[in-house]
Amino acid sequence: MQMKDKVAIVTGAASGIGKEIARTFAREGAKVVIADLNRQGAEATAAELGGPDRALGIAMDVTSEDQVEAGIAEVIAAFGRIDVLVSNAGVQIVSPLEEFPFDKWKQLLAIHLDGAFLTTRAALRHMYAQGGGSIIYMGSVHSKEASPLKAPYVTAKHGLIGLAKVVAKEGAKHGVRANVICPGFVRTPLVEKQIPEQAKELGISEAEVIKNVMLKETVDGEFTTVADVAETALFFASFGSNALTGQSLVVSHGWFMQ
Ligand code: NAD
Repeated sequence: MQMKDKVAIVTGAASGIGKEIARTFAREGAKVVIADLNRQGAEATAAELGGPDRALGIAMDVTSEDQVEAGIAEVIAAFGRIDVLVSNAGVQIVSPLEEFPFDKWKQLLAIHLDGAFLTTRAALRHMYAQGGGSIIYMGSVHSKEASPLKAPYVTAKHGLIGLAKVVAKEGAKHGVRANVICPGFVRTPLVEKQIPEQAKELGISEAEVIKNVMLKETVDGEFTTVADVAETALFFASFGSNALTGQSLVVSHGWFMQ
């Protein structure tokens, strides 16, 4: 068990990648908190993973300062500490830049960047008091590389690398590490929704979106899986020293090689 009795919060864990990370951490002995906009989904996931002494589902809109502060207080009341934060909640909105509605731009940046900032700030206070912790941001290949139609997403995912580097520098003297996972395409609801949207915007079939847009640059034409990403999160979360900090790791079947 690589995370025995560690307390880990995963945002956006009612679905997709976050859910699999919560499952993997629970398998490795962690007490997990599933924080999601979708309260029902968060509670259902928590119930799957263990009793109230092992898994907690909480409602949290990561863009709301009040909800993040209240959620973190709930975690401390339940489990007394925070060892790992995975800032994972996210959405995708596709549109050409010249038509991108300003409110959608702000909404996406708020979920990815304000959410990362607010949860980091609230978790750091406890990690500093404890003398250590690990923060993991869910970046993307789009933290390194651009695609058309995804202006705010690419902007936000690049921004998370900057935030992780600052947390690595400020957190070092408190034993806090920060790193970024950069997955390729994973077939979660976030991606299933994009396939027909991109087909329409680009005027091609859904099969062509998968083959010629999403997986074109991979070495083997394969999707990355939720398990691939969760095992990477486990690696960052359970790494034994502060040597591994301020880094980003691409998990993408070779799409974008550094
Ligand atoms: P998903 O749609 O399956 O899950 C996203 C979860 O985030 C949902 O449960 C949703 O309710 C929650 N959420 C959305 N807005 C929220 C908010 N304001 N506050 C709290 N929770 C909120 O998507 P996913 O594919 O699992 O994506 C998870 C993360 O992985 C995102 O940051 C995404 O950008 C990133 N990512 C996904 C892929 C991919 O191909 N699926 C690739 C790279 C990175």
